[in-house]
Amino acid sequence: MYTFNPGPSAVYPAVRGYLQDAFDEGWLSAPHRGERFTGLLRQTVADMKAKLNIPQDYTIFFLSSATECWEVLAQSLTPTKSFHLYSGAFGEKWFEYAKALRPASTGQLFGLDELPEIYTLPLPDESGDTDLVCITQNETSNATQLRDGFILNLYNRLGNALLAVDATSSMAGIQLKYIKADIWFGSVQKCFGLPAGLGIMVLSPRALARARSINERGHYNSLTAQYEKMLNFQTTHTPNVLGLYLLSRVLADREPIKVVHQHLQDRAAKLYEYFEQATQLTPLVTNPETRSTTVVALQGAPALIDEVKRRAQAQGLQLGNGYGTWKAGSLRIANFPAIPDAAYEQLVQFFAREFA
Ligand SMILES: *Cc1c(COP(=O)(O)O)cnc(C)c1O
Repeated sequence: MYTFNPGPSAVYPAVRGYLQDAFDEGWLSAPHRGERFTGLLRQTVADMKAKLNIPQDYTIFFLSSATECWEVLAQSLTPTKSFHLYSGAFGEKWFEYAKALRPASTGQLFGLDELPEIYTLPLPDESGDTDLVCITQNETSNATQLRDGFILNLYNRLGNALLAVDATSSMAGIQLKYIKADIWFGSVQKCFGLPAGLGIMVLSPRALARARSINERGHYNSLTAQYEKMLNFQTTHTPNVLGLYLLSRVLADREPIKVVHQHLQDRAAKLYEYFEQATQLTPLVTNPETRSTTVVALQGAPALIDEVKRRAQAQGLQLGNGYGTWKAGSLRIANFPAIPDAAYEQLVQFFAREFA
């Protein structure tokens, strides 16, 4: 059975052995203020930076999910309001949570085949009181992606506001240009090929300085509190030690992100090329410039979508459901590193045989 679900998604087969090792090596009861655990966290931070090309002067925090990152950003880095540019369900949810805490926050929706024009956006000027501009680098719900050039242009026009990027379904899959934004975050159950239960947030020196000057301390997971603990490779609460252990093992095995990125990009190009020509379903996103590398969505009549999913499942290929607005009329295929090439070969053969 192969699963192409874009989260929770396929885990690396090696995780089975790592779970056993975690038990046998006593990690499940390891004290989280002890040297053994802080050593693990220190090594994990070093490996994250090395394997994912995260600048040395950026700070890494471990939380429990990307959703928690949304909330922490509103609490700790948004004294007044944030601005949200979004095209799909995850970007919209982030906007909703931000508004619940900071009601002055604003948002703008754009289409899934659209490249937003920077000069048309209501961006903060130097005197503005927008704290954070929020984008979703890879919108998992509709399989779109914002390109590096767009993020850089946006970053260059923000004045004092910080740029926060939800990269939940691309972090550890594609090579993110960390220097082009202040805050990046994601979860391990997508491109890391791990079970859910860990969120990862990466802060630029500028973002860290901002968090420290705001100095929000009203929450156990406030960034200042987390920063003070991370100085000693500790966390504010008892952390997910098992998740961190598994992350450290998977990172140690990982090829550099450049290699992973190229592999996923080649695989995505092949998938799009195939589904553009040969099947009854077509890519949901018609503009090649807005298509995601790590999630491919296909569209068709709802009855056909159901039939494809049902027959694929019967042959050991679990496809991802559509999401939000696109639930009935689309299905999604994760293009994540833990899914082997053989799975995509079987998938294409399935479509060629039954839905060409
Ligand atoms: C999956 C996902 C989330 C939510 O992640 P959790 O770990 O479930 O909180 C947020 N944003 C995007 C873009 C996602 O793909």
